Amino acid sequence: MGDGKETVMDKIKVYVHTVGCRANQADSSVLEAHLDPALATIGGEDDADVFVVNTCCVTTEAERDCKKTARRLLRQNPNGKLLFTGCAVSAFSEFAKAFDDRVLSVGGGATSPVELAGWLNRFAKENSNTEVLPSTKSRVYDYFASGDAAVFQSVANVQGRTRALLKIQNGCTHNCSYCIVPKARGPEQSMPKEMVLRQVTAMKESGARELVFTGVQIGVWGKDLPGQPSIANLLDEAATLFAPGRIRLSSIEPWSVDEALIDVMAANGRICRHLHMPLQAGDDRVLDDMCRGYTATEWLQKVQMAKAKIPQIAVGTDVICGFPTEDDGAFENTLKVIEISKVAYVHGFSYSRRPGTIAAKTWGENRTIAKERVRRLRLLGDTLHDAYRASMVGNTCEVLVEEARRGITDTFLQVSFQQAMTPGDLVDVELYRRVDAPDSLCAKAIQYDKSPFLERI
Ligand code: SF4
Repeated sequence: MGDGKETVMDKIKVYVHTVGCRANQADSSVLEAHLDPALATIGGEDDADVFVVNTCCVTTEAERDCKKTARRLLRQNPNGKLLFTGCAVSAFSEFAKAFDDRVLSVGGGATSPVELAGWLNRFAKENSNTEVLPSTKSRVYDYFASGDAAVFQSVANVQGRTRALLKIQNGCTHNCSYCIVPKARGPEQSMPKEMVLRQVTAMKESGARELVFTGVQIGVWGKDLPGQPSIANLLDEAATLFAPGRIRLSSIEPWSVDEALIDVMAANGRICRHLHMPLQAGDDRVLDDMCRGYTATEWLQKVQMAKAKIPQIAVGTDVICGFPTEDDGAFENTLKVIEISKVAYVHGFSYSRRPGTIAAKTWGENRTIAKERVRRLRLLGDTLHDAYRASMVGNTCEVLVEEARRGITDTFLQVSFQQAMTPGDLVDVELYRRVDAPDSLCAKAIQYDKSPFLERI
């Protein structure tokens, strides 16, 4: 804000609050990067003129959190206005209406963050020297066209960050019976390959050392593009281009994990040994009711294939507990499948009834049962995570130094350093335990003869 003498509207002060997944986080950083610094500044929530709330609707709690945050921000600044984007405003038309004339604009889960930033820039220009921002209630155009370049125009500014997200895909038409996301994000759209590779180069030049490929259903990347290129080939090419940095895949659905993808991950040393592949339920009847389209055995076979071809790979998963047709026996089946899989970690969630979905129209929900099952699943998940970490002790890994004394392995383990390291460095290290760590798993300190000294958190 220069000498601090400008009036509020010389530059609009914008605060961006993001709820939800990596796709939302990626969208928010693209929006921030495309605000014109001559017209708008990004700042904290205390004195913002415009609060951008990037919403999530995947659970009742996430939706409630978005509303609560929006109300709190408005209370802080009586003249402040809201700009909503993200999934909740797309999925539920009444969401933004509840905030009435405090809403400046609404863009949905399929809205290009570049377009949204452009709208905000124009609005800032038109309203410079205004004392109070007018309420426009205009709606930013939603992009649904396949491969529409406007959806993905440009990358976030990653200067100063060692890890960056790159959203290469948006939308989903799989229609799992519990999921509201297809309604919010629209059909699949892939970032064209040349654009992905251009952005990979740009992010490398900006100083990112780890790039996380993200999307709503990332495994179907390419299906809507001419020639239907595969995610496996894209990953291989992008990782080679990004070297010496590395690329990590975010969550990928089991039906998209095939031998070609695993072979690329095994052969290209610049791809992280990490596969997050949601199971959701380990009982075939429940999987069928969820419309997932695979059996528990098929999921297990993919886990085993990945482990057989990629030594020490961290396979992680998501499980929904308390799906309406999940009885005690079905939940026990899920626990058994997770136990057999020996995954590195499990994220357990309670089933959340989302209005408009097939499951919500067909069944109710029992939150007490769901909560108890999440508790049991997490206990099992903790045991498996401990076992995975223990299996890594004594192994060599590549660590990305995120802070002087903290880093992350390619196998998605947080590590700490006994000596200060340089953020942004990619270092080959051995993993050890320390005897003086309070966690019993870190109880045995081992000083080894090459630096850096590590302790697993
Ligand atoms: S694959 Fe299923 S769970 Fe994932 S976004 Fe699509 S509908 Fe939702």
